[in-house]
Amino acid sequence: MILELTALTAQFPIFFSLIASVVGACVGSFLNVIISRVPQGLSIVTPGSHCDCGKSIAWYDNIPIISWIILKGRGRCCGTPIGLRHPCIEILTAFIFFFIWNHMTPDHAFCGWVFASALIAAAFIDLEHMVIPDFLTLGLGALGVILSGLVPTLHGQHEGLFVLDSLRSIEASLLGIFIGSGLLFWIAMLSAAALKKDAMGLGDVKFIGAIGAFCGWKGTLFSIFGGAFLGAIAISLVILIRKIRPSNNTTAGNTLSNPIPFGPMLALAGLLYFASLQIQIDHWFTTWAELF
Ligand SMILES: [Zn+2]
Repeated sequence: MILELTALTAQFPIFFSLIASVVGACVGSFLNVIISRVPQGLSIVTPGSHCDCGKSIAWYDNIPIISWIILKGRGRCCGTPIGLRHPCIEILTAFIFFFIWNHMTPDHAFCGWVFASALIAAAFIDLEHMVIPDFLTLGLGALGVILSGLVPTLHGQHEGLFVLDSLRSIEASLLGIFIGSGLLFWIAMLSAAALKKDAMGLGDVKFIGAIGAFCGWKGTLFSIFGGAFLGAIAISLVILIRKIRPSNNTTAGNTLSNPIPFGPMLALAGLLYFASLQIQIDHWFTTWAELF
């Protein structure tokens, strides 16, 4: 069936790319609901979409990206501003779904969509609340192992016999969880001992495990060190902005004194690995391993 679907998508590439983008925009709209409601402990199913004033939102005012533009970012009922975050996440998700669809086989791309959606939700919840809910860390990790068994190409296994490929893929997924979480756990414990304060939450340790379930151990190592590199750039930018605009101390000052969440950096690095850099990074690791 996968082969048939691959052949079909190859015949109508533009049509299926468009579908992928639309699915991405709709999933992005749902991710907005998760990001707004889950940290408050609210249900993501009921009530349906509603404005801050309590009125429910009609379907034609709830079309991803388009409705926000038509309504100029304000609710139709009362004019309450709808954050720019909403269309941005919808556009971001649409683009990522489009990109993943065009670079992978349909089954592999579907796993990528699941992975990317969870990363986006986790990153934005972590940015706002400095916490990542368990279903986006432990839940995503468990799902990663299951999907690795079903789609062995996730870990480059496509030798032939499905059962063998599947078992090898699950093994690679588990290895990713334990090497990623184990390494980050030790980095967190050692830095906590050295700095005499908690530098990193256990949420990040669980989260890198979930990334490992989809990306394997090479992907987790890249995510930890790539994430730290991205974090260093983010901190430098914050310091630079503070230097350029010293008058704006109330917001910029707070940003730097508050701890910077590591989750979004891990998510970005993990997604870069999964969607585009895997071949180069794996090649680099193999070359490096041959030296020993
Ligand atoms: Zn309203």
